[in-house]
Amino acid sequence: TGAEFRGLREDGSIFPIDIMISRIEIAGDDYAIGIIRDDSERAEIRAMKETLELTNVRLARTQDVGGLGWWESDQRQKRMIWSAMIPQILGVSETIAPSFKVIADLCVSADKDALNAFRSAIIRSPDKRITYRIRRPDGDLRWIEEIVSQEPDQRLLGVVRDVTKQKRLEQRLKVESVTDPLTGMLNRRQFNRVLKARYAKFKRYGSNCFLVMYDFDHFKSINDRHGHAMGDEVLKKAAVLVNSQLRPYDHAYRLGGEEFAVILTGLEARDACAFAERIRESIETASFELDGKTIRATVSLGISRFRQSDRTFDAVMLRADEALYSSKARSRNTITLAE
Ligand code: GH3
Ligand code: MG
Ligand code: MG
Repeated sequence: TGAEFRGLREDGSIFPIDIMISRIEIAGDDYAIGIIRDDSERAEIRAMKETLELTNVRLARTQDVGGLGWWESDQRQKRMIWSAMIPQILGVSETIAPSFKVIADLCVSADKDALNAFRSAIIRSPDKRITYRIRRPDGDLRWIEEIVSQEPDQRLLGVVRDVTKQKRLEQRLKVESVTDPLTGMLNRRQFNRVLKARYAKFKRYGSNCFLVMYDFDHFKSINDRHGHAMGDEVLKKAAVLVNSQLRPYDHAYRLGGEEFAVILTGLEARDACAFAERIRESIETASFELDGKTIRATVSLGISRFRQSDRTFDAVMLRADEALYSSKARSRNTITLAE
């Protein structure tokens, strides 16, 4: 037992054989009886079984490494089984009985309706994907992606993955693509997008809109005399000052270098001027500090009103730019309105 034998065929090929030897007694004499059997088929089945087991081990390991879990349910979603990875993903005990309710109960309220709708639509149109957030019992917020498909025997198979890392990266990239890293203000691309949209809205509904642009005075000499880091500090702190003057629905934009803009909607010219004056004053009166050194800075501002007679939003920018230039030409540290 346990030994493996191989047979040699006449054509020279080798094949597995099974030899069984038994002792028998015939008329008081001892004999040995040997049964030799071609074992090719059994050997093949054994090899297949080994391969399958290995595949299963590999699949399980792949699921572990990839953080993949699966569930399986009958078509009415009454009975369910799931892999050990699912409770791990959900952050619940592995002894908890599998059910869709366990998942639904963890789902955050903002995503609950979408998840319920997804579950009830799945019978009619399987092969679907959904992303929802869960609040794990330990308080952790996680993004879950679920892909559901229907097996040939009508059972439903769900593949579940924790996609929190990808989602966070996605969100960070989204924020980075619209903001300026130094000041945290929205970037020029966003400015162009919003100005265009606001201008189109203004053309249709005609409520007052103003564009305020400002540029630091003699900024080059701030850099030259106190260093680039001090220049950065001025831009950063001034951004905080400006942001604190904004109404919740207004935004400030960094157009580039030391040039910034704010789009104001739904107010009168005197309010737009008052806003610009507050910005001017808050920067003029601020102290900018770095490495024990304290300096002062000022800005010049240009304000332009949206006009129905303008052909495009570029005209609004051009007028704000001209107004800003005239502030610079006059005295700097002042505001100019182009009605
Ligand atoms: P004016 O009053 O006419 O506006 O003079 P100015 O010196 O501010 O004008 P200019 O456009 O000649 O110089 C702008 C300077 O701003 C040049 C550039 O090195 C500096 N600058 C642009 N971006 C940054 C930045 O991110 N950090 C720092 N520290 N300096 C910057
Ligand atoms: Mg400048
Ligand atoms: Mg400039």
